[in-house]
Amino acid sequence: MFLALLGVVAVVAGLTHLCLLLLFAATGVSALAQVNVASVLCYVLAALLLRRGWSRSAMFLMGTEIIAHGLLAVAVIGWQSGFHFYIILIIPVVIVNSLLSPGPKAVLGLGVGLLYLAMDWRWRTATPYMDAPRAVLDALYYFNLTATLVILGLLATVYFRLVTNAQRRLSDVARTDPLTQLRNRRYALEAAQLEAARVQRGAGPLAVLLGDIDHFKVINDTHGHEVGDEALKAVAEVLRNGVREVDHVARWGGEEFLVLLPGTDAAEALAVAERLRAGVHAVSVPAAPGWFMGITLGVSVMEPGETFEQALQRADRALYQGKAAGRNRVVLASAPSA
Ligand code: GH3
Ligand code: MG
Ligand code: MG
Repeated sequence: MFLALLGVVAVVAGLTHLCLLLLFAATGVSALAQVNVASVLCYVLAALLLRRGWSRSAMFLMGTEIIAHGLLAVAVIGWQSGFHFYIILIIPVVIVNSLLSPGPKAVLGLGVGLLYLAMDWRWRTATPYMDAPRAVLDALYYFNLTATLVILGLLATVYFRLVTNAQRRLSDVARTDPLTQLRNRRYALEAAQLEAARVQRGAGPLAVLLGDIDHFKVINDTHGHEVGDEALKAVAEVLRNGVREVDHVARWGGEEFLVLLPGTDAAEALAVAERLRAGVHAVSVPAAPGWFMGITLGVSVMEPGETFEQALQRADRALYQGKAAGRNRVVLASAPSA
């Protein structure tokens, strides 16, 4: 994440120096144009180092360039040129740095801050070596100030995006079952609470399907755990593809799956469950030839006045009845007791 940020710094800083180079070349200040050629080359080298994975070297190269350039420009054409602003940008980059541990971060951050204060004290009112015309100094000052503000905004935007994306990825991982890529029990419980609240608000019934693969232990015992895993993935695929976008399919436990169908009554839920059962039964696992996959499903329909946990319990009892009655079947739970 931080490396992406460094990449952005390298490109933006490289482009900024390219602009300065053109500015100096156009105004005929060839000495400063040459300094900027060196700077642009520095950033090209930094980008190459980053690509090769030498991020630490790239980072120090960029930091050194910003400081050296700032010092040189301020000493030669004066504090009014505004080249010192870029040095301030080093501080946030040092702090969000993932390549440095807290100690070096504190030393570097503090060091850069003190350097900036020392430069201000030494050069703010000093007479520069080169007496640049007022108009040139003003143009440089506002160019550098604007570039610093833009880079600051860009850094904050990139950092915010990176953090938001990382959070999204993490929350996705936390809700996904790594084997089947279905939603996991944690997600299922969250979704169930939301759907249950909708039922209580009168948005229609919620069908709860609890499925458990039949004699799954036998697959494991006969063909090995890895073949069992393949079978679980194949079943997950059938369940995932057998429902609507608005439905939820989750791996509830080892070889148990929970399916939630919002706005679905008993007749529709039975039809969906039967379709899923038939789909699972048609699954063939190449490593377990001749094995007929079966799944037993208990189905309950949650209406206002019942909690999700109660509806789940009814589905679980129906599942148990299905197992006792011979497996590979769908059983509708009895209505909730008043
Ligand atoms: P039933 O028809 O009564 O449900 O019988 P079953 O064999 O499916 O039920 P049981 O609860 O006896 O066995 C479930 C098996 O599922 C045991 C466990 O090792 C296996 N299992 C659970 N999670 C995984 C997994 O992630 N991968 C594999 N390969 N097997 C798993
Ligand atoms: Mg089980
Ligand atoms: Mg089972």
